[in-house]
Amino acid sequence: MMMKGVVAIVGRANVGKSTLFNRIVGERISIVEDTPGVTRDRIYARASWLTRDFSVIDTGGIELANHDFVKEIRMQAEIAIEEADVIVFVTNGREGVTAEDQMVARILQKSKKPVVLACNKIDDVAFRDNIYDFYSLGIGDPIPVSSSHGIGVGDVLDQVVRLLPDKEDDLPEDEIKFSLIGRPNVGKSSLTNALLGEERVIVSDIEGTTRDAIDTAFTKDGQKYRVIDTAGMRKRGKIYENVEKYSVLRAMSAIEKSDVILILVDGERGIIEQDKHIAGYAHESGKGVVLVVNKWDLVNKDEKTMAKMQKKLREDFKYLDYARIAFVSAKTSARVQTLFDLIHEAYDNQRKRVATSVLNDVLVDAQAMNPTSNFEGGRLKIYYGNQVAVTPPTFVLFVNDPKFLHFSYKRYLENKFRDAFGFEGTPIHIICRKRD
Ligand code: GDP
Ligand code: GDP
Repeated sequence: MMMKGVVAIVGRANVGKSTLFNRIVGERISIVEDTPGVTRDRIYARASWLTRDFSVIDTGGIELANHDFVKEIRMQAEIAIEEADVIVFVTNGREGVTAEDQMVARILQKSKKPVVLACNKIDDVAFRDNIYDFYSLGIGDPIPVSSSHGIGVGDVLDQVVRLLPDKEDDLPEDEIKFSLIGRPNVGKSSLTNALLGEERVIVSDIEGTTRDAIDTAFTKDGQKYRVIDTAGMRKRGKIYENVEKYSVLRAMSAIEKSDVILILVDGERGIIEQDKHIAGYAHESGKGVVLVVNKWDLVNKDEKTMAKMQKKLREDFKYLDYARIAFVSAKTSARVQTLFDLIHEAYDNQRKRVATSVLNDVLVDAQAMNPTSNFEGGRLKIYYGNQVAVTPPTFVLFVNDPKFLHFSYKRYLENKFRDAFGFEGTPIHIICRKRD
């Protein structure tokens, strides 16, 4: 398992949470290109410090519709406590301790989660003495920070990394972890129950892991699975059910923990913007993906209905062209059984390795059949390629100059790889490197 952890930033409005978030996240370079059509929430991101990788949540970005500040900040603190291993509590060092700061401090104290107290806006040593006031919050030593100038951020991160748990819960390696994501009421809990209700499913005793208490481990046909819960606090009283960003956040943390993602859409109501948003995150994670059309029992069908829906899904989720589509009903259990095969297939393909010699045969054939043409002042020459990673399968092609690669040729090569090797259910990455 990779070492991971979750850090949440809390504090009242305008203290500088998002400025600090941006500092921590920085400019992260990803090998995955931004997917067109995916709008990006800047409330959740990966970050690293020293040798540690972790995720950061800016709870300030999770807002309630009816602007009651006290309720909002309470919700943000509760979400931080629920989701995070370490909480960074940001205050305004210029203004001193406020009543709202005290309220947040009390909530955090009760949670017993480790807290790092950042006194922001200490841009100048002249303000440094302001921090002593913050000892009165009773949650440890305040760290002077200037998020906008990048001062003290390293001290905060040193402390964060020290407080992060050593390891993510040690989950068995031979277990397939999957999650069901989708907008509220699409049928995530119903379908989870239908999957667990299948004959020959043996639900294990749920281990009392801290954050994952509602994940369910089970065995079916000799294969171990774990279904990662996406509902979070919703289950504990349905408090924040309608806070869209919170449900997106939950989906994102479930995606991180999963090998395979089932993206649920509502067969009766069709696809909405929020579905695309969530699907985009699933795609960019590089995990295995299955598209599941649920509530198919509610749809008035003729012989063309399924093909039409399939076409619509392919149009709306262009980038998920590798995902299989299943039409199910959690209510009647129709075809729910087939999901296990699709999960398994996506999982296996995520881990598939292609022999270098075979890969290069395919590359030679592909170029013979459809030679590269001039682009950006030159013609791409591919010398050879090899697979450098799994989950997802990642290929490096050594070429004369990567800038000569037109995206449509990359697309063509991807299709050739898919035809030759079958990567159903998983994205694959192709990277070009200049060979010296
Ligand atoms: P949030 O509402 O807590 O997320 O706060 P923002 O990050 O949006 O910052 C609120 C305001 O404070 C913005 O105008 C920032 O430019 C400013 N700000 C943030 N950090 C600092 C800082 O370290 N020093 C100063 N002087 N201003 C800051
Ligand atoms: P979640 O919010 O995504 O977890 O959705 P739920 O599982 O709570 O389901 C929301 C509603 O849809 C409930 O009333 C379910 O009974 C209903 N529902 C879920 N799946 C199906 C289905 O396949 N067919 C029908 N007819 N209703 C369903």
